[in-house]
Amino acid sequence: MSECKYKRVMLKLSGEAMAGKNGFGIDFEVAKRIATEIKELVDMGVQVGAVIGAGNIWRGREGGGMDRATADYMGMLATCINALALQNSLEDLGIETRVQSAIEMKEIAEPYIRRRAIRHLEKGRVVIFAAGSGNPYFTTDTAAALRAAEIEAECILLAKKVDGVYDKDPNKFDDAIKFDTLDYKQVIELGLTVMDSTAITLCMDNDIPIIVFALDEAGNIRKAATGEEYGTIIDN
Ligand code: UDP
Repeated sequence: MSECKYKRVMLKLSGEAMAGKNGFGIDFEVAKRIATEIKELVDMGVQVGAVIGAGNIWRGREGGGMDRATADYMGMLATCINALALQNSLEDLGIETRVQSAIEMKEIAEPYIRRRAIRHLEKGRVVIFAAGSGNPYFTTDTAAALRAAEIEAECILLAKKVDGVYDKDPNKFDDAIKFDTLDYKQVIELGLTVMDSTAITLCMDNDIPIIVFALDEAGNIRKAATGEEYGTIIDN
């Protein structure tokens, strides 16, 4: 098995990653598979932080005429549901996991405390950062970039449905071209929708490489972290 060149990584999972084929809710078989993959990293001695989205439950910007901030708070709460599901799946595999929430809900998750999160990581616990950044008008991509900077993660492993960044949607265009590497400025200038611009800028300002890969096959999280196989690397 290849060595991982990173000691500490931030894994960003979209909410849809938890949904399985029907695209909505949580498929526990899928959650178990993701947990098994995260375990591979933990077993290699990699410290893993994770941010999970909520597209499988609720997205603020699709809140159909609702007050945007309220819709976004609902989205943040939905990330907590996914975080608890992933925690459960990880703990079923014997991996110590802590959920830290950006919105205080102390009965079910620790509040986000940076130094405490780092301590958990040093002890080999997976830390799932829930409730995004705690602020409306942001996304979980931005939360992943922010937390990655705070915990000094060496990269973001950005799990997607497609196997990298393309110049146009490969599901719609047969002639879509995949980029092996990109720099942050190209992502912004070309208007590539791999991450929102706030998240990309944060990664650029803090020199955090983004490794984009598809979550569709078993072992892909480890392969992305070891450089064995991935789609696109976004770096300076
Ligand atoms: N959200 C937010 N602030 C944050 C992170 C998330 O308001 O810092 C809300 C926002 O409504 C967003 C939803 O939570 O649509 C779910 O996150 P996201 O859309 O990033 O999930 P993903 O697309 O990764 O599944």
